[in-house]
Amino acid sequence: MSQGTDFDVVVIGAGIVGLASAYKIALNHPDISIGVLEKEAEIASHQTGHNSGVIHSGLYYKPGSAKARTCTKGRNQLVAFAKKYKIAHEICGKLIVATKEKELGNLEENFDRGQQNGIEGIEKIGPEQIKEAEPYCTGIAGLRVPCTGIIDYAAVADKLAQLVEKKSSNNKVLPSHKVLGFDKHDFFTELLTNRGSVKARFIINCAGLQSDRIARLDGVDTRMRIVPFRGDYYDLTAEAQQKVRNLIYPVPDPEFPFLGVHFTRKVDGGIECGPNAVFSFKREGYGKTSFSLRDSWESLTYWGTWMLFMRHWLFGMGEYARAFSKKLFVRGLQRLIPSIEAGDLRRGNSGVRAQALGPDGELIDDFAIEHRGNAIHVLNAPSPAATACLAIGEHISEMVAKHFNI
Ligand SMILES: Cc1cc2nc3c(=O)[nH]c(=O)nc-3n(C[C@H](O)[C@H](O)[C@H](O)COP(=O)(O)OP(=O)(O)OC[C@H]3O[C@@H](n4cnc5c(N)ncnc54)[C@H](O)[C@@H]3O)c2cc1C
Repeated sequence: MSQGTDFDVVVIGAGIVGLASAYKIALNHPDISIGVLEKEAEIASHQTGHNSGVIHSGLYYKPGSAKARTCTKGRNQLVAFAKKYKIAHEICGKLIVATKEKELGNLEENFDRGQQNGIEGIEKIGPEQIKEAEPYCTGIAGLRVPCTGIIDYAAVADKLAQLVEKKSSNNKVLPSHKVLGFDKHDFFTELLTNRGSVKARFIINCAGLQSDRIARLDGVDTRMRIVPFRGDYYDLTAEAQQKVRNLIYPVPDPEFPFLGVHFTRKVDGGIECGPNAVFSFKREGYGKTSFSLRDSWESLTYWGTWMLFMRHWLFGMGEYARAFSKKLFVRGLQRLIPSIEAGDLRRGNSGVRAQALGPDGELIDDFAIEHRGNAIHVLNAPSPAATACLAIGEHISEMVAKHFNI
């Protein structure tokens, strides 16, 4: 990358949200040049390459929210994209299973939300139908969600990057370019990177786990902070894989934006169990003891983190215990499949979620995308942002047209 290269738009972050935004901008504004700067040597190195690989239906989200609107729209676009470009995926459907009487109210609420969000084909089912669909699963009631699917999100990111570069020879996806700061001028910004400076008229911040820091570098007081939550997975052994046909989820706790440990079939044929949700001492740390002084200091000197801990200490302790005890993890899974045993599980991957937290300790539920000056900042893009990426990208492309007059 040469010193002083110019782009009309620079996207920071080659995760699925940054790449889908670059792709939609390239489609809608073919005359402008786009640079995507990625600090890692490989694209999709963080959330996009460490997720569950589920194409969410859009069932869970508050009707009218950005998540509800973009998930359904994005899902349809994603499936069409995967078909067109032959990306491994399958619409296999999923079950949400209640195992206790006290979950029935939430199950019903999820059904109502699904209806309001226009999710096609959701069906209430009883214990026999649960057994018919998933013979090893036991529940007292459930929902069948036929439009949920599975996909390889890293492959989607790869294809998006190729298409961005194919659209114009002026477009570039540049790995190993870490944005370190901004030098603002009247009509452009100089992005200072580890590989020299890059000039841009407009900036789109899609830095995921680092998005609040990039916003602060740009002088934006977001009043929220990214707090990382690690999720650990186990894989079912080859012999135990027959216990799960497709996707089996518990009824989610409405207090949290996490879905609870579940069983997920992957496009490569394996079955993942998890993820849990543990406060992480490192934003991009995938081990149980990963630690970063800077990340921990920033999280633990933020009042919102302590408010969150005080409010949800019981949940937090439970998740911590489960992260270090396979026995407790297995117990969580046995609620859905009683015959699962510790010997059926092998340690799998981990991912870290970028979850925005407000100053009152409130987990920001909806997507947050803000325009300031010559920049658009994606400040909260947790799940289902991978499913919704093409709809989010379209929204960002519309914001580019509206605010930047291109
Ligand atoms: C455990 C887990 C399970 C999930 N499961 C699902 C699921 O099944 N379905 C679903 O729809 N969603 C799921 N999600 C959510 C989904 O993965 C994320 O919402 C989505 O990947 C966010 O994409 P992103 O591009 O915003 O972030 P990322 O993929 O994290 O990309 C951000 C990029 O910015 C780069 N970057 C950061 N700072 C800089 C800098 N200074 N300079 C240059 N580059 C920088 C990073 O290196 C990174 O590559 C899950 C997430 C996790 C963690």
